[in-house]
Amino acid sequence: MTGGSLEPGTVLGVLGGGQLGAMFAAAADRLGYRVAVWDPDAAAPAHRLAQHAFAASFSDPVTLEQFSKIVGAVTFEWENVPAELCGRLEKAHPVRPSGAVLRIIQDRIEQKRFLQSHHLPVPRFASVESADQLPAHVRTLGLPAICKTATTGYDGKGQWSLREPSDIASVQQALAAGSQRGTRWILETWLAFERELSVLVARGSDGDCRVYPVAENRHEQGILRLTQVPASVSVAVATQAADLARRAVEALNGVGVFCVELFQMRGGELLINEIAPRPHNSGHYTLDACSVSQFEQQVRTLCGLPLGEVRLASPAAMVNLLGEDIRRVSDDPGCRELLSKSGAKLHTYGKREIRPGRKMGHVTFLADRVDIAADLAAQLMKRLA
Ligand code: ADP
Ligand code: MG
Repeated sequence: MTGGSLEPGTVLGVLGGGQLGAMFAAAADRLGYRVAVWDPDAAAPAHRLAQHAFAASFSDPVTLEQFSKIVGAVTFEWENVPAELCGRLEKAHPVRPSGAVLRIIQDRIEQKRFLQSHHLPVPRFASVESADQLPAHVRTLGLPAICKTATTGYDGKGQWSLREPSDIASVQQALAAGSQRGTRWILETWLAFERELSVLVARGSDGDCRVYPVAENRHEQGILRLTQVPASVSVAVATQAADLARRAVEALNGVGVFCVELFQMRGGELLINEIAPRPHNSGHYTLDACSVSQFEQQVRTLCGLPLGEVRLASPAAMVNLLGEDIRRVSDDPGCRELLSKSGAKLHTYGKREIRPGRKMGHVTFLADRVDIAADLAAQLMKRLA
């Protein structure tokens, strides 16, 4: 330890080996740390960048022993890793964010209750403990509504929208069919929001807290498609979004990088949709548009280094490359032309298997004005469509 920080060369453990883990590993490498990745999938992108790759089940006791022996600190790259495993690793190492934070966040019901108890605004919701409770909760909340599995959902997976009374029976059936012992769901009022926003927050163990500029997101079928930053919102809305995000992370006493997703209603009201206890897809622009990326902040918060600046050096727009987009972006002449423009930056994650909707890479456009960056992004999305 030097001044309370982990020495370069220390092995940083990361649970989960997707693209977020890979970008964390790249940032750790640049700061002189080594990385151990634990992900059951041997083809997970982060294994390629890790000095130590553990491709075993998260419940494997031998891997737990080996992993624990070599790491000096642990983080995770998605919230669906077992909180119990974090709890065990926590007995021997700093785990950031903590297992306690993970427990609150990985259950959508617990998370919303937590936010509510801290007077942070969330959409109206109900906890659905069994499929046959659905009709009663829909009667109370009203339609339209959206039902989500309480745990393990991502990219819009495990979600059902209910628009009309006739949807109730079919969704109830779907819940019953997918139900295992202890499965719960959250039913939320479906909001006709004006726009979706997200705010990245880095918070150190000393309580220092840095908030990146508010970003604006567009989702398609529950999957992030486009992020542009700065968001086209008033200073008052941006200030309020930043304030809510900071308050949420402070309420959690979270240490690490967090992303707070928000809905902005017509009239400006803001509601928190969810919190990710890790770097976020909507924060990928920080790799190119900020001098310190969200992944570098994750390394810094884990290692006890001072947090870096969060200033936006350039407006940016980021387009996700989903599924077959990854082929098209390099095959289509129009896409190739856009990629060769000044300010265009291509990132690909090295995933071999292409699946519809799978995040394969992203393109960030930097420009002097956000509308110029957004226009380049729109042109790319049109070519990809
Ligand atoms: P996840 O990102 O974990 O898959 P989210 O709860 O963020 O789950 O849902 C994904 C997307 O679905 C959101 O970004 C938003 O576009 C839409 N969505 C989720 N909840 C609501 C809601 N209550 N009202 C309207 N749209 C919603
Ligand atoms: Mg989300």
